[in-house]
Amino acid sequence: MSKGKLLVISGPSGVGKGTIVQRVLAARPDCALSVSCTTRAPREGEKDGISYFFITREKFTQMIERGGFLEYSEHFSNLYGTPRFFVEEKLNKGDVILEIEVDGALNVKKAYKEAILVMIAPPDRQTLISRLRGRGTEDEDVIKKRVERADYELSKTPYYDYVIINDDLDEAVGEVIKILEK
Ligand code: 5GP
Repeated sequence: MSKGKLLVISGPSGVGKGTIVQRVLAARPDCALSVSCTTRAPREGEKDGISYFFITREKFTQMIERGGFLEYSEHFSNLYGTPRFFVEEKLNKGDVILEIEVDGALNVKKAYKEAILVMIAPPDRQTLISRLRGRGTEDEDVIKKRVERADYELSKTPYYDYVIINDDLDEAVGEVIKILEK
């Protein structure tokens, strides 16, 4: 029996889930954030062991073979996985948050029934599209793919335990904390 709750937070790109997670962690420093492994290259400012564990595809495959992931999946040609031992160790000490996409989240729920799935949704689709455009870093083709992916992610909402609409940041953060404290 582990001590803590495993909270899995998903939501489409641009919905603001990263900000929510950072605010929840600031309010609940006893809560751990799981660091995933990925084969993608670090973006500017990302640090190994903090943003992700950046590993080679060869190492990732070895970890799959050894059952080292609670779940893993491929996105935009890169592999992402939740390291099993990292999560189990942290769960023995307290609550753990995973910030992963829907396929991974549903696989976590299969492997670990007690996991609580939380979907962060935009107030409406148009707001999300504007947010994706607002970043101004991606071209139209990338935005179109992100919108399609967002529609797919939101279509999995019925499988989630909670849906939080990110209309007001403080309220959304408060709702996540309430779920942790239930
Ligand atoms: P990015 O490359 O932008 O950091 O992440 C791309 C996608 O991978 C995001 O949807 C993110 O939530 C997802 N992701 C990050 N870590 C994991 C993980 O451990 N497992 C799965 N399945 N997806 C992940």
